[in-house]
Amino acid sequence: MHFQKKQKIITLNFVLYYILILKMLQVSRRISELSTSETLAMSAKSAELRTRGIDVINLSVGEPDFFTPDHIKLAAKQAIDKNYSFYSPVPGFLELRQAICQKLKGENQLDFAPEQIVVSNGAKQSVCNIFLSIVGKNDEVIIPAPFWVSYPEMVKLADATPVFVSANIENDFKITPVQLEEAITPKTRAIILCSPSNPTGSVYSQQELAALAQVLEHYPNIIILSDEIYEHINYVGKHQSIAQFENLRERTVVINGVSKCYAMTGWRIGWIAAPKWIADACNKLQGQFTSGACSVSQKAAQAAYEGDQICVAEMRKAFERRRDLVVDLASKIDGLKVNRPQGAFYIFPECKEFFGKSFGGRKILNASDLAMYLIDQAHVACVAGDAFGAPECIRMSYATSDDKLKTAFKRIKIALEQLK
Ligand code: PMP
Ligand code: GLU
Repeated sequence: MHFQKKQKIITLNFVLYYILILKMLQVSRRISELSTSETLAMSAKSAELRTRGIDVINLSVGEPDFFTPDHIKLAAKQAIDKNYSFYSPVPGFLELRQAICQKLKGENQLDFAPEQIVVSNGAKQSVCNIFLSIVGKNDEVIIPAPFWVSYPEMVKLADATPVFVSANIENDFKITPVQLEEAITPKTRAIILCSPSNPTGSVYSQQELAALAQVLEHYPNIIILSDEIYEHINYVGKHQSIAQFENLRERTVVINGVSKCYAMTGWRIGWIAAPKWIADACNKLQGQFTSGACSVSQKAAQAAYEGDQICVAEMRKAFERRRDLVVDLASKIDGLKVNRPQGAFYIFPECKEFFGKSFGGRKILNASDLAMYLIDQAHVACVAGDAFGAPECIRMSYATSDDKLKTAFKRIKIALEQLK
């Protein structure tokens, strides 16, 4: 009896010890509360289905299907031969930062010094650097919704709180000055604007930006982040940046990079042009985190900015043709409500008409169900709007060939018509 009691205590201790170890071998709260990037997850799912021999058309991830232009690739090859194999300066090579300053002056009429530029591993790191550098506990960041998937997660990583301001398809997914004013509180520390927008393709006009700037003028402690990664994929003419307004200049950060306009997503070069104190903070953070971005990629990016810009215009033209094609194809599908995006390479139709419908015993309750249905039934990968703060919509990227787009929309139409 005594022996049995001892055995029981040993077993109990062992179980408790095991539970304790299991509890310790867990990721941090920071990571467990972080959402997975839905854009990359859908793209990975589509790649996995392709390896299983399923002919999936990937309209999920947003990246140009073009190859990087030859003169840019050549600059990278030459950089390798010239032994650009050492650590680069943390904020990027001076020549690249000078080329970025020239681009900002020539294309955007903005004066920045190289000390105000920080080059990072893609604009994604640039955005994250800024949030980690300027916001923290008890701070709020205004994020117009629909938004790019990573903004709220990055804000949360920085311990701050995202505050969403929602716009819908009726107002072309753009927020109004009144909405902005209503969202501002004494805790607001930053706002991030993205024009042309991922996921909606909406572009703020100069007048619309001026109206938002007028509101922000009265709140001198709010920092304005302007994500302009789709600057050149714009079908309405000259790109408009909120940084053009003198009254906000001292506290506006421009975010941009080579991924989208030069078809260089894999090279991982993005940058900020910022007030010096913010650039210094990002530089300090990056120095402890990743060091300078890939040296060979930086030389390629420099060639992109200094070289002929005809490649940018050609790709933009192709994207515009595809925009017209997919808006036309999607508008012919009953149940999808489509607007006409003015930039980027996404359409973002409202799809709530399909919620509650079924096919083959499968019921569609929301946009995520619809995205899964389309990948399984039509073999077309899209991303549900939930990830972008718009649960009634679905994102389709048209950065793929005309032929693939035509096939994809034929399949989507058939699959959606089956839902009753
Ligand atoms: N901002 C937006 C709105 C984007 O769509 C992307 C694309 N991933 C990025 C930033 C980051 O771009 P990258 O890291 O490839 O430079
Ligand atoms: N920006 C692209 C997208 O939204 C690339 C994927 C990502 O970095 O999230 O699809």
